[in-house]
Amino acid sequence: MPTLGAQSRVDCIVIGGGHNGLVCAAMLARGGRSVLVLEAAAGLGGAALTREFAPGYQVSAGAHLLHLMPADLLSDLNLSTQGLEWAAQGLPTTALIAGGAPFVVGQGLSAADAAAYTLYTARMRRFAAALVPILSKVPPRLGTDAWADRLSLLRLGWQIRKLGRRDMRELLRIGGMNVYDLLQENFDSPALKGALAFDAVLGTNFGPRSPGTVLTLLYRLAAESAAGSGALSQPKGGLGALCNALAKAATAAGATIRTSAPVARIVVEADRAAGVVLESGEVIAARTVISSADPKTTFLQLLGARYLDAGFVRRVRHIRSRGLSAKLHLALNQAPQFQGLDANSLGGRLLVAPSLQHIEHAYNHAKYGEYSAAPIMEITVPTINDPALAPAGGHVLSAIVQYAPYTLKEGWHDGRQLFEKLCVDMIESFAPGLRSSIVGTELLTPVDIEREFRINGGHWHHGELAFDQFFMVRPVPGAAQHRTPLDGLYLCGAGCHPGGGVIGIAGRNAARQVLTQGAA
Ligand SMILES: Cc1cc2nc3c(=O)[nH]c(=O)nc-3n(C[C@H](O)[C@H](O)[C@H](O)COP(=O)(O)OP(=O)(O)OC[C@H]3O[C@@H](n4cnc5c(N)ncnc54)[C@H](O)[C@@H]3O)c2cc1C
Repeated sequence: MPTLGAQSRVDCIVIGGGHNGLVCAAMLARGGRSVLVLEAAAGLGGAALTREFAPGYQVSAGAHLLHLMPADLLSDLNLSTQGLEWAAQGLPTTALIAGGAPFVVGQGLSAADAAAYTLYTARMRRFAAALVPILSKVPPRLGTDAWADRLSLLRLGWQIRKLGRRDMRELLRIGGMNVYDLLQENFDSPALKGALAFDAVLGTNFGPRSPGTVLTLLYRLAAESAAGSGALSQPKGGLGALCNALAKAATAAGATIRTSAPVARIVVEADRAAGVVLESGEVIAARTVISSADPKTTFLQLLGARYLDAGFVRRVRHIRSRGLSAKLHLALNQAPQFQGLDANSLGGRLLVAPSLQHIEHAYNHAKYGEYSAAPIMEITVPTINDPALAPAGGHVLSAIVQYAPYTLKEGWHDGRQLFEKLCVDMIESFAPGLRSSIVGTELLTPVDIEREFRINGGHWHHGELAFDQFFMVRPVPGAAQHRTPLDGLYLCGAGCHPGGGVIGIAGRNAARQVLTQGAA
């Protein structure tokens, strides 16, 4: 282990310049700490970056819609003064139906479904609002005598209690259910049920019949509730522009950011984190190290099992972190012509999830190491609202595609081409003539996502968001409050509570933990 030189020392090193690392750095710098962000990639943003994928065509290469970041975080960091602009806000969600007319979700329903939809959305919004404090706070520790933990638990209980008896009972009833049963109870229209279930399984290793999918849906709704309007937004310049604004907020507060600076190891001295060694061999000392890399990477690769007890290492090894979401990017020389779509809908979010059964079938393949024969998709055409992302007249199509298992039976080297063709065929079935306008393509499988964004397993949430990897046990017991078993080492990425999505809460809460615990 190299000895740390005193010449290069900061209060806090943040590993990773994804959005959570940047939020964390900005908050720490504002709190008076000297902060150094070390990002392995040449650009900032992690899984929320904008980059070129075909000559002249830019895309949000991971996340492509912003809808979860709390409004108070955006305003606290003053991102509008740091260059953040909107290409579009309040985007509609439209369900594409094979052989039928597309419909904006929630509109054009039968009288019975329309009435049920009003009741359902109002109830789910009430539940989501009650869950906001759970989502946005550092989870309390279980079984301690500390008043802060007891108070925090009491507050959470009170938040649920405030719902009143009927809602409380209903929340308890549905909380552990699967979204399939919930939607079957409420609606008739297969297409509506498919569209609503999509949000419960997006980014997960679940189908609608998997236990815990009401939880994942409520989680998303709670984050949208904290975001204010819950509206889907598209930053001008893609998600990378949001991260550039976060980086400006961090540097304006005094943080230093270095890209192309991969961390090879976390240095331990006197039983605490004391700095890092870069892959270049450079050693940098710090009183606190905060990692936004996923938990497996942080603990097993950067720190090393020998600094942790065996039980903790076993829990980290068992984190389920294999992604099932792929990303397809198409460079087009003209706008795609989706049948029956108006210009407003084309600029919004398009879903291919025609029924609960369809989604469940699509998921079934993934259980056996196969990609879905008829995948489900979230499609955007960001250039409708932000033409500068493509050459004049050109367009970008960005689609999240499920299910594409990390471990494909035949391997992605052999399976990639057929899967890409399958996805393009499916999109073309809604947008005839699409193929003839394609001038460039890129498919990111979970294995590509792992490599490009350095996320072990290529998972959207850095680790499955499920009951056993959730809230007070996320990512694992012993590291659920952003602190880790090693003094001076903290976590701030999507692997922590409240999980993935471009949300920033993990970064903010980790900074608060460092600042209040006086570790630096
Ligand atoms: C295909 C896909 C589509 C998605 N779509 C959406 C969406 O539309 N909307 C949404 O809200 N969310 C979406 N998500 C989820 C969202 O992108 C992620 O959950 C979120 O970006 C994670 O942010 P983070 O800052 O916690 O981690 P990351 O973005 O993963 O950042 C971690 C950073 O750490 C760096 N790093 C790792 N190891 C090292 C090292 N050793 N040294 C230095 N740096 C290191 C990485 O390079 C990376 O930049 C999507 C995810 C995927 C995969």
